[in-house]
Amino acid sequence: STVAFAADKIVVGTDTNFPPFEYKDPQTGEHTGFDVELWDAIAKEIGIEYELQPMDFNGIVPGLQTGQLDVGIAGMSIKPERAKVIDFSDGYYNSGLAILVLKDNNSVSKIEDLKGKVVSTKLGTTSADLVNERAGAKHVSLFPNNDAMFMELMSRGADAVVFDYPVITDFMRKAGKGQVKVVGPLYHGQAYGIGFPKGSELAPKVNAALKTLRENGTYRELYVKWFGTEP
Ligand code: GLN
Repeated sequence: STVAFAADKIVVGTDTNFPPFEYKDPQTGEHTGFDVELWDAIAKEIGIEYELQPMDFNGIVPGLQTGQLDVGIAGMSIKPERAKVIDFSDGYYNSGLAILVLKDNNSVSKIEDLKGKVVSTKLGTTSADLVNERAGAKHVSLFPNNDAMFMELMSRGADAVVFDYPVITDFMRKAGKGQVKVVGPLYHGQAYGIGFPKGSELAPKVNAALKTLRENGTYRELYVKWFGTEP
């Protein structure tokens, strides 16, 4: 019966490290963050049990396509190419992409300034799309996770990181230690959505739960807790 129970639990894929949306709390060893707590509130609202499966971001869309994952919540931007192969919930966070450089770099103030430079970003992300479409970089280093991506900039292996703005600001505050700065405008304003296998019956339920959580103040509470501002 343990096996039967486990089979009933849905599997929720999330990024290993995408703070403040999801990351491993060093104190507790547990995954936490805005996405993790928002999903927990949604699951309680719907009345479903789940198992969180942290993984490289690049595996989440394929995991949903093959049905190995029932849900993906990973700061995943709702983009048309993805919406062809998976279903998305309504948007739950409005994001954008930004350029991060070392403090002593004064040669970059927009994406086109990365022409001929080395750019570090994450494999399979909207930032990789942006860099490939517009930067004209000499080399684009595509890392599977945030740690390697940011490390490449800090160790001067790359001239810039291009990545999701809220995650870049989190890095600046915690690990960047005053050595980095954001330059230029925000790019690719896109909402994050929760992903499902095509045709999943969960998608409408999740949208209804999201609506309830927005109405009853839970969404706002989590937003203020994790971002320190009003939604
Ligand atoms: N928002 C970006 C994307 O969807 C990055 C997500 C992530 O790295 N977890 O591609």
